Order: sequence, then C-alpha cells, then structure tokens
Amino acid sequence: MAKLKRLELTGFKSFGRRTIIEFSDGVTSIIGPNGGGKSCIVDAICFVLGRSSAKSLRAERFADLIFNGGKKEKPAKEAEVTIYLDNAGRELPINSREVRITRSIDISGNSVYRINGKRSSRAEILELLAEAKVYPDGHNIISQGDVTKIIEMSPIERRQIIDE
Ligand code: ATP
Ligand code: MG
Repeated sequence: MAKLKRLELTGFKSFGRRTIIEFSDGVTSIIGPNGGGKSCIVDAICFVLGRSSAKSLRAERFADLIFNGGKKEKPAKEAEVTIYLDNAGRELPINSREVRITRSIDISGNSVYRINGKRSSRAEILELLAEAKVYPDGHNIISQGDVTKIIEMSPIERRQIIDE
C-alpha cells in the first residue's frame, strides 16, 4: 500500500502560506472549527492526485482554488500542492524511497504536474498511481457527505460502489 507521508500546500484555497502536514504511522485526525479548512485538505489531496473537475473540488473554476487573500492578505498567483508517498516497498514503479507528486495551477487554470520534480503529464501521474491502486475519483477518498449519500442510495447503486 502506498502510504501518505506528507502534504504541502502553498496558495491552495484557504492555505495562503506554505503549510506542511505530516502523516505519521497510524490514524491521523485533523480537527478544527467549521470553515477552518479541513475539507480543503481533502480537496488538496484529490487535486494533486489529478482530479479533473473543479466542482468536485468545491470550486466554480480551477482559478478559484488559488488563495484569494481572504480579508487581509494578498491573493496568491498560483496554487501548488505536493504529496509525498512512501515508496520503500516499491509499490510505485520508481526507484526511490519516496515519491513526490506536485501539481500547480496558475490564474488561467493551467495545470503543471511533476513527479519527483520532473515535469510530467497528467496521464503519467494517473498511470503511476494506478500501479498502487490510487485513483483521483476512486472510493479510496471518502469526502464529507459521501457517507450520507451511500446510506441514501438505492441498493443497486450501493452494490455498484461495493463492486468498484
Ligand atoms: P466544516 O467543519 O464546516 O466542514 P471545514 O473545516 O471542512 O469546515 P472548509 O470547507 O475546508 O472547512 O473551509 C472552507 C474555507 O475555505 C472557507 O472559509 C472559505 O472561505 C475558504 N476558501 C475556499 N476557497 C478559498 C480561496 N480560494 N481562498 C481563500 N479561502 C478560501
Ligand atoms: Mg468540511
């Protein structure tokens, strides 16, 4: 299993300044008040894994993912998220102990992807992650509201999710 080690957000949604979140062994919980940015962290994970719909990241357009400055600060010019995956077990076909995937977007909404600092295409990222059974739209990420959705689904729809 590819383990999430660390997440770095710069200018992404409510995270204007560079923010680093370390995930140590075991379960990590992130707590905070309503509107504190907890779901933004999940959005950041989906974003860096290559999710292609802005709406599913709770944004009208991709440019809305860039830190808007809030009430007091200057808006950012781009948003960047880096995810660090533990690759000691070589689940990902890259010969390094750690795999770093970066995605940034500019104000026009154009994305640039990198694998261990090297410019890559979205297709290359998806192919790499698929080796570890990680998918940007997969059920490995359960967002706020998904549990209610699953409970309220028809048995046939729920069966499809379980099959997937
Ligand atoms: P809840 O407990 O209600 O689920 P939460 O901790 O999940 O809250 P989020 O929904 O992640 O909170 O945070 C939303 C906050 O992020 C809002 O305050 C919103 O204004 C802010 N936000 C979203 N996009 C941007 C942006 N582009 N720039 C700055 N702030 C943003
Ligand atoms: Mg939330």
